[in-house]
Amino acid sequence: MKRFFTSFYGKLSAVFLILLLVMGTVQILLTIASWQTHYDEADQKLNARLAEDIAKDFTPLLKDSLNIDGIHHAIHYMMVMNPKIEIYILDEQGGIMAFFAEPQKKVKIQSIDLEPVKAFLEPDRKFPILGDNPRNPGSHKPFSAAHLKIGKEVNGYLYIIIGSELYDAALNTTREEYVAQTIVKGLLITLLFTGIIGLILFAFLTRRLRKMSIVVHEFERGNHDVRIPVKTDDEVGQLGKSFNNMADTIAANIEELKNTDKLRRELIANVSHDLRSPLASIRGYLETIQIKDAVLSAEERQKYLNILLDSTHGLERLVTQLFELSKLDAKQIEPELEPFLIQEMVYEVVAKFQPKAEKFGINLDVEIKDGLPQVMADIGMIERVLSNLLENAIRYTPRGGTVNITTETTGEIVRVRVMDTGPGIKDDDLKYIFDRFYRVEKSRSEKTGGTGLGLAIAKKIMEVHQSTISVASEVDRGSIFSFNLKTWHPRAI
Ligand code: ADP
Repeated sequence: MKRFFTSFYGKLSAVFLILLLVMGTVQILLTIASWQTHYDEADQKLNARLAEDIAKDFTPLLKDSLNIDGIHHAIHYMMVMNPKIEIYILDEQGGIMAFFAEPQKKVKIQSIDLEPVKAFLEPDRKFPILGDNPRNPGSHKPFSAAHLKIGKEVNGYLYIIIGSELYDAALNTTREEYVAQTIVKGLLITLLFTGIIGLILFAFLTRRLRKMSIVVHEFERGNHDVRIPVKTDDEVGQLGKSFNNMADTIAANIEELKNTDKLRRELIANVSHDLRSPLASIRGYLETIQIKDAVLSAEERQKYLNILLDSTHGLERLVTQLFELSKLDAKQIEPELEPFLIQEMVYEVVAKFQPKAEKFGINLDVEIKDGLPQVMADIGMIERVLSNLLENAIRYTPRGGTVNITTETTGEIVRVRVMDTGPGIKDDDLKYIFDRFYRVEKSRSEKTGGTGLGLAIAKKIMEVHQSTISVASEVDRGSIFSFNLKTWHPRAI
């Protein structure tokens, strides 16, 4: 039971039922009050001419002066005939000159406010007009009034209260019973119909909220696949949609965090491995030189020193590339875009790699059509991409092979291609080729001992240029790496 009242449905139902009770009671009290006004109005309208009629009967008794005994007699007679009325004779100022009252129940005020009486005597009066009740000062009742000449000088009034005390007393006993019955009946009907319909409606509405709360709870406990079934577009439906969107984002973020964490671990493992191997080799050779210092020939010493130099170069390259990648990741370096001629860059880079290509017996070939538009990019970064691609092509292509660089313009894009006649890349490896530290050839030879970071850096650079780099490869035939650059046209002045 306590759980019911602490639930949203319980609270809503309790407030609703209390409101129904209060509103029902107010409605009934308002009805009774308006019924009273209606009753007063009807009574007054019905007896509007009563005072005028009775005044005619009193006129002979008042011809000379106030004949108290005669009047008492007449009033008594009339009130026996009609117990619903009380008769008063008033002077010009509203002072009560004569009345009929039961001996024990005296009239408690001396005069009556004449304002309502005068309003009653106006031709365009509007009922109900309530006047002073002499037997109960402070309360007001419907009345009938008429002018009355008393003696020769006094222009008084005949004032008749409709609904005497006697009548009220009789009415009150029945009224209370009636009111109580009406309230009970009215409330019962309201509670039954509105209450039942309201409670069913609330149960239906809160059921959706309950279902949502179960899903949210489930999500909170770690089941990130649960979603709220949304069937409507109302506020509750919108809330469900918003939760689902939020859950999607959270789930995606968690997945991304997991991936980042996995990548970070792999990165640390790779970095430590890639640092440890050359360091171990350096240390080994240094120890050898140290131990065999006396017996080493000049040739051997030179050989060992060359190996040491290569290893330190390798280390330097790894550290530089790592640093470069982390700066790109952290968006510490933004591309400084400027227009330049890509063909010039291609020739420069090719010239730089020419000695290396010759050393490995590889033919470097460039095919660039005339009239190539300028491109808009960061010169340093694009040179890095091209160098990485060319270095790979030379590195992985066997002696006697060809590395071909071409450009092609489509619309606002210049596409640069680096093709080789190397071993190609298997489909299984192709999808990971741009991942950092991914290397198809796990063992390292002098020629193929890369870091596995070159393509990751190239991809990142193209990303910061809002562009792409892609690869197509066929095993034993070769690979084609291509990237796109946006063209730039000088504005006509
Ligand atoms: P690495 O420093 O090892 O070359 P990259 O990120 O540049 O690192 O390349 C990742 C891997 O992709 C390389 O280890 C190599 O196996 C493969 N790869 C890159 N370019 C070529 C190519 N032109 N031909 C064949 N394999 C390639």
